[in-house]
Amino acid sequence: MTTIAFIGLGNMGNPMAANLVKAGHCVTGFDLMAENLATAREHGLSIAADAREAVKDADVVVTMLPAGKHVVAVYEEIAPAARPGTLFIDSSTIDVESARKAHALVADHGHVSVDAPVSGGTGGAAAGTLTFMCGGAEGAFTRAEPILQPMAGRIVHCGGAGAGQAAKICNNMILGISMIGVAEAFVLGEKLGLSHQALFDVASTSSGQCWSLTTYCPVPGPVPTSPANNGYKPGFAAALMLKDLKLAQEAAQGAGAPTPLGAEAAQLYALFNAQGGGGTDFSGIVEFLRGKIA
Ligand code: NAD
Repeated sequence: MTTIAFIGLGNMGNPMAANLVKAGHCVTGFDLMAENLATAREHGLSIAADAREAVKDADVVVTMLPAGKHVVAVYEEIAPAARPGTLFIDSSTIDVESARKAHALVADHGHVSVDAPVSGGTGGAAAGTLTFMCGGAEGAFTRAEPILQPMAGRIVHCGGAGAGQAAKICNNMILGISMIGVAEAFVLGEKLGLSHQALFDVASTSSGQCWSLTTYCPVPGPVPTSPANNGYKPGFAAALMLKDLKLAQEAAQGAGAPTPLGAEAAQLYALFNAQGGGGTDFSGIVEFLRGKIA
């Protein structure tokens, strides 16, 4: 049993923390929202009065917060309050620069850290099947792995500080671009009189094959479990896709990497969001391409 502080008990954090409790760990939680604390209590967490109190006796601190500025602010608050040698795991999706700043901040107080963003969404968080992409020193990763296990389907050590965040935004840039490509192909096929099933049957076994087509097909029918069959209910909301595409663009500009299709995908998702698509699944971009959302 390990004593764990869990900070950020929202849509992802609460079910993740619940899986740590189920695995037999002693988990103390903190969040700014009273209703999230009430849910956490039902999951068997102890609730702390503030973030500093949550971490004071912890061996491990897990954070699941909205963005880089929240992670850096919380780390500034709690790093001095934790016992030296505490392991910090940040599973939020944040910019690489803030992730590296967070690593440096805790190192200054004698702690070790791993950036460990996830894919798999709220379903994966509840089922304990998230993919964790980890960045940090070998020793920190080795300590983090058994803690992540009850929340994970897969755990990959991607490299040093910030490498987990880098892997996450590169993967999601591929996803955003490929979803637009698949959606465009269905819209073109419709105009050419091609049935959705015929295009799917060909492309899913040809060189157009990809996850956006075969697992998350953006038109109803060919893949019954895809959000297209459920009114584009997320799933993975278009607002979160936009967040990740913006992070990828920020990183690309900082690193001087040419990503013209990533930039175009970010613009299309920004328009889709601006026109009210943010709360729908990201595969709903097909409706935007058809001009149904104006
Ligand atoms: P959320 O908004 O539901 O939860 C974030 C929580 O952080 C909120 O409960 C908020 O009150 C809390 N918080 C903010 N500032 C705080 C502070 N200073 N102290 C304590 N608590 C604070 O968001 P979410 O959907 O759980 O996502 C969390 C992170 O996971 C984000 O970075 C997101 O991009 C990433 N993510 C989300 C999904 C998803 O499907 N929801 C999938 C993969 C990754």
